[in-house]
Amino acid sequence: MAVNVESKPEHFDAQAAAPLDASVDAAARAASNVALTVAGVGSDVRAAWLDAVAEAVEADADALTSVADQETGLGLERLSGEVARCAAQLRFYGVVAREGSWLEAAIDHATDATPDLRRIRRSLGPVAVFGASNFPFAFGSLGNDTGSAIAAGCPVIVKGHPAHPRTHARLLSLAREALLRVGAPVGTLGDVTGLEAGQALVLHPAVRAVAFTGSQKAGLALHRLTQTREVVIPVYAEMGTVNPVVVTQAAASSKAQEVAAGCVGSFTLGMGQFCTKPGLLLVPSGSQVPSLIAQALTSAKPRGPMLTDGIAQGYGAGLARLLEGGAKILASTGEPDGGTPVAAMVLLAPAEMLTPGSPALDECFGPVIVVVEYTDARQREELLRTMQGALVGSVMSGGPNDPEVGAVVDVLAAMAGRVTVDAWPTGVSTTWAQHHGGPWPATSNPATTSVGAAALARFTRPVAYQGVPRQALPVGLRDQDGDQLPRRVDGAITLPGPAR
Ligand code: NAP
Repeated sequence: MAVNVESKPEHFDAQAAAPLDASVDAAARAASNVALTVAGVGSDVRAAWLDAVAEAVEADADALTSVADQETGLGLERLSGEVARCAAQLRFYGVVAREGSWLEAAIDHATDATPDLRRIRRSLGPVAVFGASNFPFAFGSLGNDTGSAIAAGCPVIVKGHPAHPRTHARLLSLAREALLRVGAPVGTLGDVTGLEAGQALVLHPAVRAVAFTGSQKAGLALHRLTQTREVVIPVYAEMGTVNPVVVTQAAASSKAQEVAAGCVGSFTLGMGQFCTKPGLLLVPSGSQVPSLIAQALTSAKPRGPMLTDGIAQGYGAGLARLLEGGAKILASTGEPDGGTPVAAMVLLAPAEMLTPGSPALDECFGPVIVVVEYTDARQREELLRTMQGALVGSVMSGGPNDPEVGAVVDVLAAMAGRVTVDAWPTGVSTTWAQHHGGPWPATSNPATTSVGAAALARFTRPVAYQGVPRQALPVGLRDQDGDQLPRRVDGAITLPGPAR
């Protein structure tokens, strides 16, 4: 099914556009030149493109894994799983594109009181994608942002991450070859490298949206930079947060050991370099959970490299701020040998430390969790309400009949994009119902997700067509297009079926 793309705005003057770097200009122009084609070929065709890229990724899995391991030290097992996930995600976004409900097509036939109105989402055009260091495949150059943007009919220009340049180059090269093989136009997937090139890219007039995954500092910098454009564009920055976990009274008394083991497994996974890492654990005062976590950490002795020296230094600085702010070390593994070694830590902080501006309310990216004891439900709720927005909030409960769960879920849902019960927050599946986002600073746009079927919506904008004759309507909005996609016709959902 074909969907139209935004045409070049009147102000776009290719000669006047003078980005810092000629390679940025070339990549942006190449994407702009094929934007109409990428949007217009239809969802089935783009799904086939994504399938071809997924196949190429799988075929090169061993080499990709090995290169990424040399660059990140994340380990062959973890990385091979991530390569498989990357391919599965690309296919998933193709499935979503084919299914068509992302277009939110709606038709209201004219009545005596209202005109004929038809609404559909249109592709925005070239998208600049900034992947994160910690997921070279799942949130990297061919990750969720790239997959969902192409599925939504937008060419992509990736800003390669300096933590894994050879992985990026290999991914781009195999994806471009695959795209060419199945007939996608050159320019569907471009790239640039370097901090300044990334900045020039988001300022380039041909770029219509930015998808970013990374730190609050960089996400905010890019968000502010795009505000200086003559034509401001959407920036979908998915950043890092302090993801809270609440242990209820019943969980603390019935499964303290299990909670402690799960907690250590989650906050030290990948040496804590996950945006969904649990950063704050609220436990009932007097429970055994804090000391059991300390024991579990000491016996687990997690080890592994930090992704970059910059991340290791940032972790050290974050720990120092937490300790200066009043947190105490409950357990520390000490620094292991090899890589860029850092110590994993459990800190205990007084409830009074959770006040606005406290370091305990900022992400400390690395293997640390701050434990805070609460005296009763009211204080627990107050503590949660002082927190910033989060990607995910979790509850460890005493089971399905735990009377505290409902209230905690309610408070967490007001501050986080995803709420989990009896499941640790690390791990984000790419499915129809997923939401990976949340209020600032989880994202720059709380209405959107970077993972799951709804991720496509970020790269589109709805248009209502009023009284537009049939031959001038985009495909999907003509009466006879009902066999192509789900629609809402005169208020009722209709599913694809025989043409009327
Ligand atoms: P990062 O330092 O923010 O870097 C991300 C990208 O932004 C890099 O390509 C970087 O390029 C670029 N960049 C940094 N500062 C910039 C600036 N001022 N202007 C333009 N571009 C800039 O983050 P990271 O080390 O990759 O990732 C760690 C963070 O990502 C953690 O906070 C983690 O929680 C978060 N994260 C979030 C998610 C999510 O889905 N929400 C997923 C994974 C990770 P250069 O290095 O070339 O400067």
